[in-house]
Amino acid sequence: MAHTYNPYENMLAVLEEAAGKLGLCRNDYVALRTAEREMIVSVPVVMDDGRTEVFQGYRVQHCSTRGPYKGGVRFHPDADLDEVKALAAWMTWKCAVVNIPYGGAKGGIRVDPSKLSINELTRMTKRYVAQILPLIGPEQDIPAPDLNTDGQVMAWMMDAYSMLKGYSVPAVVTGKPLEIGGSLGRMEATGRGATMTLLSYLDKVGKKGPGMTVAVQGFGNVGGTGAKLLAEAGFKVVAINDVDGTLYNPGGIDVHRALDFAHTHGKTLKNYEEPGAKRISAKEFWALPVDILFPAAMENQINEDNAPAIKAGIILEGANGPTTVEADAILNAKGVAIIPDILANAGGVVVSYFEWVQNLEAFTWEEDEVNHKLAQIMEKAFAEVWRVSTEKKVPLRMAAYMVALDRVVKARKLRGIFP
Ligand code: GLU
Repeated sequence: MAHTYNPYENMLAVLEEAAGKLGLCRNDYVALRTAEREMIVSVPVVMDDGRTEVFQGYRVQHCSTRGPYKGGVRFHPDADLDEVKALAAWMTWKCAVVNIPYGGAKGGIRVDPSKLSINELTRMTKRYVAQILPLIGPEQDIPAPDLNTDGQVMAWMMDAYSMLKGYSVPAVVTGKPLEIGGSLGRMEATGRGATMTLLSYLDKVGKKGPGMTVAVQGFGNVGGTGAKLLAEAGFKVVAINDVDGTLYNPGGIDVHRALDFAHTHGKTLKNYEEPGAKRISAKEFWALPVDILFPAAMENQINEDNAPAIKAGIILEGANGPTTVEADAILNAKGVAIIPDILANAGGVVVSYFEWVQNLEAFTWEEDEVNHKLAQIMEKAFAEVWRVSTEKKVPLRMAAYMVALDRVVKARKLRGIFP
């Protein structure tokens, strides 16, 4: 049985190890062990039946050394301060590893959004914006979508912020619909960045992607789009695990068909069928004899309970923090290559950055330009992480943290500690 999991402790353990490997002294990084600001807000909502429900919301700003705070907002019944703190810190490392000029933040509301009507969700989102208003803004902190939030939620956030300011401020959030200043390519960016990073890795180790088998956990924006792009690149997606169960088709799942089904059936594959596909248990899912596991749901999914049974040689982390420190050690000892979250799923925030730049310039870019610039950034980041990994003989996760921490610490030294 896995012992109690705390995502923030998990983050700190990796941070400490990276600081040790970089030879940093405690003064260099001790301030990065805590978030710069943590805000807990109460979000009262008048429900459709007239009752008032009060939800708890959070916005945590971990570090602003390299630029404005940046990071998503999630709606989830398990969201709590430790989770949001860990996610905020991961955004700091993510933005640093791909070298975009942001610090890290994250927000969340402890709620099961599937239980709210569209009007209740709208009111909750807008009230949350009003509550965190002093913290956010295009030069301050720029939210984006995360688990169970999407372009529509960003549109409500942008509207609430703009109404409270008295003028339209598209650059306050990213991941918006195109009609109100979203960027071409943003929807697919996380999946695209993950696919690019996997291909960069395979190239380094002399393997070819086409024909390799993939098992995906999560079929939302990251898992769904990622699976689609991987299938288009010639990989064979043989299993999809979502909240309602696991679909396994050794002959390869028709990902486009499955996506169409999920879009029209409440975002799940619950009643989806196709020739050759069967249902398997979650335990069987993790132990599938596949080449690549693509966890794209949430944290703490690969832990000491299921890590020993994993047969995949490569783990591509689409989610934030899917692998615990304990599981990491088990997998590293088995020689499994883990392409870490802060690198593998950074495509989303990279195109968020492009969206913000386009909003500030009041100018739009073509999709080719977005994808080309994304590829440049992802390839450069991968090359840097790969170099540190081979030079220092450390796994890719440690190398990514070392690259990120080194950048943040150098920036901190240049700025000094105020006053
Ligand atoms: N929520 C995404 C992430 O975890 C995107 C964040 C953003 O675009 O700011 O990376």
